[in-house]
Amino acid sequence: MGAKIRKPTVRTCERCGRTEEWNDEAESWRVSTASGEPFCIHEWDINGSFVPVDK
Ligand SMILES: [Zn+2]
Repeated sequence: MGAKIRKPTVRTCERCGRTEEWNDEAESWRVSTASGEPFCIHEWDINGSFVPVDK
C-alpha cells in the first residue's frame, strides 16, 4: 500500500459547462469544447472533489 499520485485529465466548469483537457506536452489546459462563457469565472469541478493523493 502506498500513496499514488493521480492527475486530473479533464475538468469541467460547473458554471458555464466549459470543458478542458490536460495536455501533457504543453503542460497546460486545452479547451476541448467551444462552449462556455468567455468571461465566466470558471468553477472547475476538480477544485472540490479532486483528491491528488489516495490515502
Ligand atoms: Zn465557466
